[in-house]
Amino acid sequence: MAELFYDDDADLSVIQSKKVAIIGYGSQGHAHALNLRDSGVDVVVGLREGSSSRAKAEEQGLNVATVADAVRSADVVMILAPDQVQRRLYAEEIEPNLKDDAAIFFAHGFNIRFGYIKPSAGHDVAMVAPKGPGHTVRREYEAGRGVPVIVAVEQDASGNAWDVALSYAKAIGGLRAAGIKTTFTEETETDLFGEQAVLCGGVSALIQNGFEVLTEAGYQPEIAYFEVLHEMKLIVDLIWEGGISKQRWSVSDTAEYGDYVSGPRVITPDVKENMKKVLDDVRSGAFAERFINDQDAGGPEFKELRSRGENHPIEATGRELRKLFAWTETRDADYVEGQVGR
Ligand code: NAD
Ligand code: MG
Repeated sequence: MAELFYDDDADLSVIQSKKVAIIGYGSQGHAHALNLRDSGVDVVVGLREGSSSRAKAEEQGLNVATVADAVRSADVVMILAPDQVQRRLYAEEIEPNLKDDAAIFFAHGFNIRFGYIKPSAGHDVAMVAPKGPGHTVRREYEAGRGVPVIVAVEQDASGNAWDVALSYAKAIGGLRAAGIKTTFTEETETDLFGEQAVLCGGVSALIQNGFEVLTEAGYQPEIAYFEVLHEMKLIVDLIWEGGISKQRWSVSDTAEYGDYVSGPRVITPDVKENMKKVLDDVRSGAFAERFINDQDAGGPEFKELRSRGENHPIEATGRELRKLFAWTETRDADYVEGQVGR
C-alpha cells in the first residue's frame, strides 16, 4: 500500500519561511503561484523577457521577474516551463543563478529521470505533481478543496527535503485531498506510459478506429460520432466515480454482456504485448530521445502528426455537431476549436 500524506503530516510554516520562485506561468505555473501566495508564501514568478504571461501574473498581484532574477533570490525553484524547454532553461538561466542551497522542484520527473537536468549534489531535488490540470488545481483550492498530489524526493542534500516538499504540497492545497509518495522514476515511467498507451494515445486511437469502422460501413458520421466519442464521457464519468463495476451496473444488461464478450476481442493479448513495447520505449529513454530530438529540430514530426490528427474526419464532424448544442460551450478561454497549437 502506498504511503499517503494529509494536511496534518505537513507544517505550512516551513514553506512560509522560504522564498519560492515559480518558473513559467502556464497551466501549472499560475495555479502553484496563486495557491502558494494565498497560503501566505513569498512567491516570485520567473518569466522570459517579453513573455505574454507577464501581464496575466501582474494582474493577479504577483511579483514578476526575469528567470535569472527570480532564481537569484529563491530558496525553492519550481520549474513549470514545458518539459522540452527545461533543459536549456536550466543550463542557461537557472543553474548559473541558483543559491548554493536552493531546492529544485518539478511537477514531472522527465528531465531528471532521463538525465537532461543534473543538479549538483548540494541541492535538494523534489517533485510535487498535482494529478490534474492547473486550472483544476486553482479552482479546487479556491473552493477550499484540493487536487491529490504525488510527492518524491530524488536528492536530499539538506536532510529536510521531505519537510519542504510536503509543506509545499500542503500550500498548494494538495494535502487536503492526499499526497502519495512516489519516486521520480516511478512517476515519470507510469505517467508517460499512462498517457501514451491508455489515456491520450489509446483512447484517441480507439475512438478514431471505431468511427472509421462505422463510417466505412456506410453509417452516418454524425451517428458514429455520438456512439464512439460523445458517449465516452458518460462512460468514463461512471468509471471514475465507481470503477469499471459501476459502469457495468449502470449500463443495460445488453451493453454489459457485449462488454464481456467483445472487449477482449478488440483489446487482444497482442495489444497488451504492444503496450509492453510502449513501456519498454519509455523505460529505455527511446521515447524521450525521439521527443526531445524532434523538439530540438523545431518539432517537424510533432507538427506533422498534429496536423494529421486535426484532419481526421471525426474532427470536422464533431465541430459541426457541437455547434448545435449549447451544453458544449467551451470552458477553456484559451482553447480555440480547430486551432490546437501554440
Ligand atoms: P504550459 O505549457 O501550460 O506552460 C508553460 C509556461 O512556461 C508558459 O506558459 C510560459 O509561461 C513558460 N515558458 C514557455 N516557454 C518558455 C521558455 N522557453 N522559457 C521560460 N519559460 C517558458 O506547461 P504546463 O502544462 O503547466 O507544464 C509545466 C510542468 O508541469 C511540466 O513539467 C508538466 O509535465 C507538468 N505537469 C503538467 C500538468 C498539466 O495538467 N498541464 C499536470 C501535472 C504536471
Ligand atoms: Mg500525465
